[in-house]
Amino acid sequence: MGIIRKTKHFQKVLDILLKQENAVSANYLVTHFNDEINKSTIYRILDKMEDDRIIHSFVGVNGLKWYAKCVKCTVKEHHDNHPHFQCEKCNEVQCINHTNNATKLIGSQFLVKSVLLTGICNRCF
Ligand SMILES: [Zn+2]
Ligand SMILES: [Zn+2]
Ligand SMILES: [Zn+2]
Repeated sequence: MGIIRKTKHFQKVLDILLKQENAVSANYLVTHFNDEINKSTIYRILDKMEDDRIIHSFVGVNGLKWYAKCVKCTVKEHHDNHPHFQCEKCNEVQCINHTNNATKLIGSQFLVKSVLLTGICNRCF
């Protein structure tokens, strides 16, 4: 985790992201903060958090951008090379951590961070 600039807005957005177990969409944050924090400020804060290796982003169903907490990322680089799963019923998105790169099989590292799996989650099943 990088240095967190504790502006009031930054802290509020961070609180939401840390409280959520699953990923949060940019749209959700914009709606949640409605008049309190404007859209461009929210996007700026999210960019900053991604730069600081606090969160990582990926694209979900319908091209919506989602954000999730980083687990093992260092100050220098992200290690979020994992696919994401989105439930077709409730739209919740989860990180699928612990995905092994099949280096023996493929012979080189391959990127799975842009892979989106869809289906029905445990709760909706
Ligand atoms: Zn990360
Ligand atoms: Zn679901
Ligand atoms: Zn993730």
